[in-house]
Amino acid sequence: MMENFIESAFGIFFISTLRYFIIAGLVFFLFYKVMLGKFSNAKIQAKHAGSKDFIHEVLHSIQSTGVMSLIAAVVLFTPLRSYTKVYADIERFGIWYMVLSVFLALVVHDTYFYWMHRLLHHPRLFKYAHLTHHKSTNPSPWTSYSFHIIEAAVEGAVLIVLVLVLPMHRFAIMGFVLLGFMINVYGHLGYEIMPKWFRGSILFRWINTSIYHNLHHSKFKGNYGLYFRFWDRLMGTETPNYVKEYDRIQNQRFL
Ligand SMILES: [Zn+2]
Ligand SMILES: [Zn+2]
Repeated sequence: MMENFIESAFGIFFISTLRYFIIAGLVFFLFYKVMLGKFSNAKIQAKHAGSKDFIHEVLHSIQSTGVMSLIAAVVLFTPLRSYTKVYADIERFGIWYMVLSVFLALVVHDTYFYWMHRLLHHPRLFKYAHLTHHKSTNPSPWTSYSFHIIEAAVEGAVLIVLVLVLPMHRFAIMGFVLLGFMINVYGHLGYEIMPKWFRGSILFRWINTSIYHNLHHSKFKGNYGLYFRFWDRLMGTETPNYVKEYDRIQNQRFL
């Protein structure tokens, strides 16, 4: 039983670390090495982060992955699982619900993240738990999981909330974690890659962009949301020059 748990925890840690290096690494290699000149118009901040930043970020990301994997293993591979709404048979709610549950998980996570993030910016907590992530004032894909150990635990705890409130199949959980990570890498990319049509669509009003989260890193204030603009707009915490900054960079990309 205990052996099974340790095996599962290590399994999750191994796959999650691999995911970090493959996705963040590939994107980094592409944007910061191979096609460096090709995306210069899309660079959000003119300066470049250095390898000292990258090492700090990679080490903290591995640590965060360890903490989050442990939480996932406790939730999914111990008797605690029976208290969750995790279900095993896809047929129980059907394939469409499975897809919908991934989207609902993003909404729950965004809400959880927004309020947790506001709390972490409280002056009494900031330097203990959140400063590590903000050391990266010019984020890169490696920043995605660069958290203090306390923040990693609070970030990972969203899984506990999710499995308690939302019936999810394990494939949906995996889909959510993977999609969430990819959006996270995009948010820390350092380049804006949204297509031109996005600005005129309704989605622009609702979805975060890389510029959006980049402003949070350069200004330390405002734009606390993770996937959506909803909470920042509702609470009046959006960086006032976000749209101006978005247009400035996209106009230089699409001359
Ligand atoms: Zn922050
Ligand atoms: Zn960030």
